Amino acid sequence: MKKILFADDEESIRLLYQEEFEERGYEVVLAASGEEALQQYADARPDLLVIDIKMPGMDGIEVLRKVREDSKEVPVILCTAYGEYKQNFETWASDDYIVKSANIEGLFQKVEALLAKKGA
Ligand SMILES: [Mg+2]
Repeated sequence: MKKILFADDEESIRLLYQEEFEERGYEVVLAASGEEALQQYADARPDLLVIDIKMPGMDGIEVLRKVREDSKEVPVILCTAYGEYKQNFETWASDDYIVKSANIEGLFQKVEALLAKKGA
């Protein structure tokens, strides 16, 4: 079973991710902050991370940097509701980028595609 770490400061979004991805057969690990995300990354060794950019304290961009110091391989999807970040992403190290949306299907497809590409 593939393990996905979701980091988002909004509880309703964390619970949505958990419900939807557990229903689809994934093991889900949740983090409510960037700091917690790094701790969970170290403890749980997820196969893929979905990280909200806009979080109080350590934001998703910093989480991505720290994760990349550990691994260049693990797929990371950054999420944001803020479209103005988008143009900065082209040179970044994340595997993908999505706009936060109530439609979980798009996220699910990106997760599947990245795990398939990884050969997992
Ligand atoms: Mg947020």
